[in-house]
Amino acid sequence: MAIQAGSFRTLELTDVGRSFGGHNALTDLNLTIRAGEFIALLGPSGCGKSTALNCLAGLLPLTHGTIRIDDERIDTLPAEKRGFGMVFQNYALFPHLSVEKNVAFGLQMRNVPKAELKKRVAEAIALVKLEDHARKLPGQLSGGQQQRVAIARAIVLEPRLVLMDEPLSNLDAKLRLDMRTEIRRIHQNLGLTTVYVTHDQEEALSMADRLVVLREGRVQQVGSPEEVHTSPVNWHVADFMGYRNMLDLEVASADADRVVVAGSGLRLRATAVERVAVGDKVRLAMRPEDVRIAPDGAAPAESIPATVAVVEYHGREFAVGVSTASGLTLHVRSDHAPQVGQEVALVVAPERALVFRSSLDAADLSEVERDLEEVRT
Ligand code: ATP
Repeated sequence: MAIQAGSFRTLELTDVGRSFGGHNALTDLNLTIRAGEFIALLGPSGCGKSTALNCLAGLLPLTHGTIRIDDERIDTLPAEKRGFGMVFQNYALFPHLSVEKNVAFGLQMRNVPKAELKKRVAEAIALVKLEDHARKLPGQLSGGQQQRVAIARAIVLEPRLVLMDEPLSNLDAKLRLDMRTEIRRIHQNLGLTTVYVTHDQEEALSMADRLVVLREGRVQQVGSPEEVHTSPVNWHVADFMGYRNMLDLEVASADADRVVVAGSGLRLRATAVERVAVGDKVRLAMRPEDVRIAPDGAAPAESIPATVAVVEYHGREFAVGVSTASGLTLHVRSDHAPQVGQEVALVVAPERALVFRSSLDAADLSEVERDLEEVRT
């Protein structure tokens, strides 16, 4: 029988929290993971990703909340009773054991009969394409090959959930790309359920079915790669997802989500993601690839005049840094190479210029003030 992932319907985290001393590393994590999903926990360093994964694994006790698989409560079980496989950044292989023996170790600990053990080890090694290296020691393998051994060692136990904590961060750029595809392939072939921690948004977007974006221990957004990429819910998520141009402006007019924002010599149409009103201080977020340099000579109404400061070749297009008359720096794209010092006109579609409240607290306060004003009048 081929390797089979253990099955369940849903894994449910309810109000999961973990604090260290007085510091909340993870607060109120609510998430339902469906069997077969590939979930990426994503966010900047220190946002609580590893804490969440370690709580799930049973390596850290929860200070709050529950974790259930179907009807079984598992947060009270020790790590080894949860039936999960783990793959870490540092591989954690036994250096004195061959690839085969590293992969066999967990099965031996479970007293799996010899014939079955041999068969399962051979299948796991074939799955990660290491047949030619089975007798080697980890020290005789490349970083990518060692990471494959770590994956084989986790999946040979037929885990009901595979947890991976930045498994590719020690590999070079090309190998990272290859291993992304490889991990995704193994996930799909075995019908695994995977929770994968990364701070690399491209890695998360390309591998996961759903992303959970964390910031300061709290979930900011849960969604498909496309949702999180094109519709971030607040400026923190936008910032993290590559909306590199962030400008602090003011709302000049607002008609539902269609707004005009102005300031620093700019005035442009944009889309409000959060509720804003005329006069609010807001943050405008635009991805470099959504801000284009208009073709030579064309300066459509509503374009932003700017001067080219730096040009970088990026394969099919150019990444261009420009300055506006008021001294703002913007990162934009162009399919032709402009000259440094050249005057250009920038265009951005209003639906790709996203407007967020600058600070939740300030916006909340102004909303309270507006409400109070309404009560007074
Ligand atoms: P990174 O990408 O840098 O690994 P992360 O998102 O995985 O970061 P965590 O390791 O989960 O973040 O840490 C979240 C917060 O909890 C941080 O502020 C961290 O300093 C704190 N923290 C984590 N582990 C401990 C610990 N054992 N003792 C005290 N504080 C901790």
